[in-house]
Amino acid sequence: MAKNVYTCVVCPVSCTIEVIPNADGGFTTEGNQCKRGEKYAISEHTDPVRMVTTTVKIRNAILPRLPVISEGEVPKGKLKECLNDLYQISVEAPVRCGDIIVKNICGTGVNILAARTMKEKN
Ligand code: SF4
Repeated sequence: MAKNVYTCVVCPVSCTIEVIPNADGGFTTEGNQCKRGEKYAISEHTDPVRMVTTTVKIRNAILPRLPVISEGEVPKGKLKECLNDLYQISVEAPVRCGDIIVKNICGTGVNILAARTMKEKN
């Protein structure tokens, strides 16, 4: 797929969208069936972002790993660094769903939250 062609992931229709530069420095799109696709494709072309979802080690808990999710999107270019940082950390049970696990991950301004409650091991 060419660098300026994207598959929209906003809904299951999965439109193929081409982003075309304008003379004024902006962009137009072709192939999207709605405005949400235009917004998605231009964002993906100019400033791609991703949610962070993974698991981290947790001590003294009923399971060995805690699912976590970012409070918002991080720049796509920072995703690997965020995942590497999360791979290094270990938290202590108990944890409640929504607790902040890492503040401002990799300087992105985005917090990482617990995606579920995890009780202590008995
Ligand atoms: S452009 Fe609109 S209709 Fe097409 S996949 Fe994206 S959200 Fe769905």
